[in-house]
Amino acid sequence: MKRVIIIGGGVAGMQTALRLAAQGVEPVIVEKEAELGGKLRGWYVLFPSFTPAAEVLTDLRRRVHERNIEVLLNAEVKGFTAGGVLLADGRMLPCDSVVVASGFTLFDAAIKEEYGYGIYDNVLTTVDLERMFNEGRVAKADGSRPKRIAFLHCVGSRDEKVCQQHCSRVCCITGVKQAMEMKRLFPDADVFNFYMDIRMFGPGYEEMYREAQQKYNIHFVRGRISEASPTIDGRVQIKAEDTLTGRPLRMSVDMLVLIVGMRANDDNAAFAAGAGLRQSASGFLAPRDLFLGNVRSGVEGIFYAGTVTAPKNIGESINEGIAAADAAAEYLGA
Ligand code: SF4
Repeated sequence: MKRVIIIGGGVAGMQTALRLAAQGVEPVIVEKEAELGGKLRGWYVLFPSFTPAAEVLTDLRRRVHERNIEVLLNAEVKGFTAGGVLLADGRMLPCDSVVVASGFTLFDAAIKEEYGYGIYDNVLTTVDLERMFNEGRVAKADGSRPKRIAFLHCVGSRDEKVCQQHCSRVCCITGVKQAMEMKRLFPDADVFNFYMDIRMFGPGYEEMYREAQQKYNIHFVRGRISEASPTIDGRVQIKAEDTLTGRPLRMSVDMLVLIVGMRANDDNAAFAAGAGLRQSASGFLAPRDLFLGNVRSGVEGIFYAGTVTAPKNIGESINEGIAAADAAAEYLGA
């Protein structure tokens, strides 16, 4: 039986394995964390349906388990070719093909020093907020209820200063989703979303954005926050410009949520150098062809699935798992 190693056990990797198994190919998932699920493990509910992330994860994990798919956890990949994957502990795993589904790296908000992430209380990221939703404990650092909350879009995306020119695509809708969740938790709070553009590309997203304005009364302000600073009473003062009216703006908020982007995986450069793969300008792995070969690399027998090639949502990543598995099975003549 032909054997395909899938690097990464997030949603794209799990779906790749399931599809390969259904086609009579032996998949092996190599995951560097202690459990399957990737970044979705830290998520609470998904846009635009508010479906619990755990529902999607539990279903994929259950099916991987039921099909007896081999999973290697805590296994870090050092390098690979289409014929084998070398682990950090020195083990060499032979295979007939590789699917790279190693995902993305989150932008580190501390790099944008002007927002004081990691320095001031009550400056958080979308990931921190999602964790608070999961823990059922959303509050200011002193435990009190926030009365005014600001979200800032495009932190670490569309920003040449931090070498991230691309749009991360899913963060606008994430910001809208989280703003709505905050209004559900704190109906009396004022919620502001500061944006450059609002990009609602998916089904139901635009409708959700309208609902956020009309039903939830969330304020969308076109402008970028230039800096944040702490106030004596534990709040965060933000300076921005409303670029629609041209007016400078200054306000104190109880929480500033930085909507962090998806950037190219830190492993991509080493993987590309080792296996002869191409990277795009932003560092994501570049598919062979954007139209007819977007799950294929430029190297025979190496395929891609999910956000290793570009920012994608969960549904797109799962679909790419199917596409990559089909391409690998075709390559193997399965
Ligand atoms: Fe910015 Fe929205 Fe694109 Fe994210 S999706 S990078 S917040 S424009």
